[in-house]
Amino acid sequence: MANQYKRILLKLSGEALLGEQGHGIDADILTQYADEVKAVQEEGVEVSVVIGGGNIFRGVKGATEGMDRVQGDYMGMLATMINSMAFQDALERKGVHTRLMSAIRMEEIAEPYIRRRAIRHLEKGRVVIFGAGTGNPYFTTDTAASLRAIEIEADVILKGTRVNGIYDSDPEKNSNAVKFDTITGDEILKRRLNVMDLTAFTLCRDNETPIIVFNMNEKGNLKKVVCSEESVGTTVV
Ligand code: UDP
Repeated sequence: MANQYKRILLKLSGEALLGEQGHGIDADILTQYADEVKAVQEEGVEVSVVIGGGNIFRGVKGATEGMDRVQGDYMGMLATMINSMAFQDALERKGVHTRLMSAIRMEEIAEPYIRRRAIRHLEKGRVVIFGAGTGNPYFTTDTAASLRAIEIEADVILKGTRVNGIYDSDPEKNSNAVKFDTITGDEILKRRLNVMDLTAFTLCRDNETPIIVFNMNEKGNLKKVVCSEESVGTTVV
């Protein structure tokens, strides 16, 4: 199987880690995602990962309840570290070498994010997890994913979701929703489709980094997206 992509950035939402649970991290989901990543890493693909924190805390939500927004956002960034550490553990238990790099210094548990070091780790075949988002409040982990992908010159951002790609309306609410195989950035903006927040999206667009939205919960799908010729999910061109 010919690898389509040499270096990828996989974005997983924090909410996906909930699985069937109301809160926290579902161990089965974590294991399943670790298997997916291991399968592509074994094909020689350089894998980096950004995980959200929405299953634990979101700054915006805190602000609606009266909390200081910046304080809440830092809590959200710490939430991404909890998820990232859990995923690092799941990967290491499967024998995958990893490095966790944090945008906020916490040296006892993660390396500080240094671009050149991240690239070196990837070249050595380690899965690199970028934690703590961008390190700045008022941003999202989608933006962190776009930023890191551009910095490390990833070939593609793979946004793992629980649906099969981008649809003309929410497929979880509308059974007649139609999926796009490919879609342009202009079309996404025109139709106001909720793919990524605008900051994240604009970064990708300006730097010509392709995005593929695909179903991360279907077994073997990540490898299909990365290593096969098969069209999986929706590619933003
Ligand atoms: N966050 C932030 N700056 C960043 C990335 C994240 O302030 O660069 C905070 C923000 O409060 C956000 C929370 O961390 O709501 C969790 O991230 P996100 O909502 O992107 O997680 P996801 O929706 O992917 O689970």
